[in-house]
Amino acid sequence: MNIVIMGVQGSGKGTQSRLLSKRLTIPHISTGDLFRENIKNQTALGKEAQTYTDRGALVPDVIVINMVRDRLKAPDTAIGFILDGFPRNGVQLAALEFLRPVEHAILLELDDATGIGRLSVRTVCLRCGVIYGSNRPPKVAGICDECGGLLVERNDDKDRGAITKRLELYHQEIDIMLRYYEWKGVLRHIPAGGTPESIFSLCLQALGVSV
Ligand code: AMP
Repeated sequence: MNIVIMGVQGSGKGTQSRLLSKRLTIPHISTGDLFRENIKNQTALGKEAQTYTDRGALVPDVIVINMVRDRLKAPDTAIGFILDGFPRNGVQLAALEFLRPVEHAILLELDDATGIGRLSVRTVCLRCGVIYGSNRPPKVAGICDECGGLLVERNDDKDRGAITKRLELYHQEIDIMLRYYEWKGVLRHIPAGGTPESIFSLCLQALGVSV
């Protein structure tokens, strides 16, 4: 199953992708996570990407597309993948259709204000990447329930200017993906205001997988 998951910042793409990845045993590929990993390890790609990610700007297409193309060559994607954060514009959309055509496109629908509200309380485990928020608080503040790792805020969630810029870009760019996937007949709208578990059930139904 080649799946793309879309939605405004804070709509739960990361959380749902992780749940779907476990359930469907296909990898969750988040371009944002790939950049953060490269930034943490201070690779050449990471150093270049950071100049964009820190201010909420999009990393140039050529860099992102090459990174995704290389990731999609890995054998663990043979039976499918869940792409989160890609494609983000028409060029990336065309590149993905050329590389690995999408069979399911999930749109997590949430209003901007709720999404921003969620970002302000979102923390991520430094070790395993699990995401916590108001609808899934950790049992012990600052510590991951699953692996005991340290929970931190994302750099770009701390900066109000970067959040506004990311939202603006999202609304500018999303339309082409929605129109294309709708035309292709693979787009599914999922209301994303509920609990992670209830949204997960809706995602499974949309994919035709038993709940
Ligand atoms: P995300 O975790 O998806 O919010 O992504 C964090 C940051 O990584 C974004 O604000 C961009 O700077 C960069 N990024 C992630 N995915 C893409 C993409 N598909 N195209 C360009 N930049 C991206």
